[in-house]
Amino acid sequence: MPGLFQQIQAGKLWDFHGGIHPPGRKQQTTQKPIAVLPIPDRLYLPLRQHIGVAGQLLVRVGERVLKGQQLTSAENSMAVPVHAPTSGTVLSITPHTSPHPSALPELTLVLEPDGLDEWRQREPLNFLTCDNMTLLSRIQDSGIAGMGGAGFPTHIKAGLTQPVDYLIINAVECEPYISADDLLMQEAATTIVKGIDILCRLLNPKAVLIGIEDDKPIAAAAMMAACSQREHYYVRIVPTKYPSGGEKQLIQLLTNKEVPNGRRPADIGIVMQNVGTAFAIAQAVLDDHPLLSRIVTVAGDTLNQPQNVLALLGTPVSALLDACGFQSQPQQRVIMGGPMMGFTLPDLSVPVVKTTNCILAPTAQELPSASTEMDCIRCSACADACPASLLPQQLLWYSKAKDNDKLQEYNLADCIECGACAYVCPSEIPLVQYYRVAKADIREQQREALKAEQAKARFEARNARLEQEKQERQQRNQQLAAARQQQQLASGANTAVADALARIKAKQAQAAPADERNKEQILAERELKKQQAREYQQQKAQQQEQQQNAQQQAPEQHSGQPEQTPAATDNTNSKAAAVAAAIARAQAKKAAQATEQQATEQQVTPAPNTEKSHQAAVSAEADPRKAAIAAAIARAKAKQQAQTENESSAPPASAGAVNKPAAESDAAVTPEDPRKAAVAAALARAKAKKQASAEPTEQTAASATGASEPDAVVTEDPRKAAIAAAIARAKARKQADSENS
Ligand code: SF4
Ligand code: SF4
Repeated sequence: MPGLFQQIQAGKLWDFHGGIHPPGRKQQTTQKPIAVLPIPDRLYLPLRQHIGVAGQLLVRVGERVLKGQQLTSAENSMAVPVHAPTSGTVLSITPHTSPHPSALPELTLVLEPDGLDEWRQREPLNFLTCDNMTLLSRIQDSGIAGMGGAGFPTHIKAGLTQPVDYLIINAVECEPYISADDLLMQEAATTIVKGIDILCRLLNPKAVLIGIEDDKPIAAAAMMAACSQREHYYVRIVPTKYPSGGEKQLIQLLTNKEVPNGRRPADIGIVMQNVGTAFAIAQAVLDDHPLLSRIVTVAGDTLNQPQNVLALLGTPVSALLDACGFQSQPQQRVIMGGPMMGFTLPDLSVPVVKTTNCILAPTAQELPSASTEMDCIRCSACADACPASLLPQQLLWYSKAKDNDKLQEYNLADCIECGACAYVCPSEIPLVQYYRVAKADIREQQREALKAEQAKARFEARNARLEQEKQERQQRNQQLAAARQQQQLASGANTAVADALARIKAKQAQAAPADERNKEQILAERELKKQQAREYQQQKAQQQEQQQNAQQQAPEQHSGQPEQTPAATDNTNSKAAAVAAAIARAQAKKAAQATEQQATEQQVTPAPNTEKSHQAAVSAEADPRKAAIAAAIARAKAKQQAQTENESSAPPASAGAVNKPAAESDAAVTPEDPRKAAVAAALARAKAKKQASAEPTEQTAASATGASEPDAVVTEDPRKAAIAAAIARAKARKQADSENS
């Protein structure tokens, strides 16, 4: 069995699934030559007329441009420039209704032709001597994009580096009414073949397959004649069937190869170009004639002279229709493209662009408007007609549900929007419109996903950069620290630092006990103040009590009960002494120091007591508080006694007063006199001592009857009382001295 190439060489053709046979209606235009349209008053040139991105503007408003001058630059591989179709002035660059099913405004340069049609300088190339890059640059700079309707940048397809088995020239033009390629082949077959030569130079295919439908016999003959000198150029006449002109369908027809889902023809070693594109390539390379115009079929029963016209790019549709004797009807529809894949124009100012192959102005009878859409009856006629072997009814269902995942699962992307399904649908469902909307949604979704992916990549790259910078910083710091440590070790600074740290620690250790001491001191002072306050309260209470007692004791003394007086006096004195102790405590130390000196100066005290006073002083020195308390007790006692005696001596016929010793009488001297108080204290001490030795049983009895503790202290330690008396005396003397001075 011969191989594929042998079968192709033998002229074998294959078939594709589905397809329909609508009425061709091409006779309106195929019988007339191409008419050259006069230059219109305005040319509307969208900056993007192809699949890809727009170029950068090179001209300004008001600038005069020459024919063939580049208006935009192609800085991106997916960009192709736009040229001035004729000489003139740039009137404006503003959004204008686009020749697209969406009719969305696109940035459009408005050119006012000056009628001179003045060319820029032209530099034709000899493609046989040019390198491929020069040829590709010329193709791109000439603004050539696929003229079969897709508008893909031609230089990309022509610049493939992978091996190409077959270069297929698409001259099928299967859609009803359209005959632009037919006429082009009839009139410019030689130029077309030169364009194919240039493509073969770039792609070096094994064979060139030129597919032409059998309803174009003149064109087929012209092409065969033009290719007669080319060994591997094969003109193949294919049966008329819609959509034979589809890329995948024609490949299958001519080579029996199927392009896998989601893949391109180049992946199976095939490149396809439109016959009009080959013509444009030849013009660009051989004549330095960029893509400035194209052949457009203007057809429909509303036209007096339907024909193919050579129209400058940017020519408004209205100008084409006017040139062909357009007779508008009520609710007139004007379609850009054929009746199967075209779209109705929103207005007639839409311009002709690089992909415009037909303007159709049919009557209502000729091409009725779509009737009311009905529900799908699941007849599967659409699936039978689909040339891409899809399930149009399922795609309709998921398009309505906007289930993009399912749409992708059912290969919506493989739909070529041929309209065969809608053509056969008995429910009049505009299936292709649903698919176009769904495709636009998916494209938008993919664009958003791509943006999110790019943003994520940027975010991750930033995080990675920050992490790397952080690690580098840490590494630098570690290196610096290590270097510093080495330096310190070398210079002995380490020891100095250690010493400094030790000093700081020692200071901190010292500061802690000091704080402790401060605390203790504060607590002690606080306790002392509290005690003073308590004592003051007690003192006040006792004074009041004493006054009451004194008032009560006076009658008792008069009634002859003198033996109770010492006990009561001692009790009172002990309380007063406690109060006085608080006052005297602050001066205790000073008094203790003075005690010894005062004791030696004491004249009234007997010799044996001098030694005792000295011992008391020593004792006071050892315990100043006790000494102070004792002194205060003694002084208070003396004072109290003096007051008592003073009061008791007031009545003239008192037995107690008669029996009082002289010392008690002396104690009646005014207590404000400190000297006298001192003398009284000494006498009281002597008396107490004598009383202690003379009345031990009486004291014991007093203790047994519940005498207060201070009484017991005074009774048990008369020495302390003596010492206290001496202290009080010294204090009194000192006070007297200070008053005298
Ligand atoms: S428009 Fe799409 S689904 Fe319908 S027949 Fe054509 S390729 Fe198939
Ligand atoms: S042709 Fe129309 S009615 Fe029939 S299955 Fe397809 S969409 Fe439904």
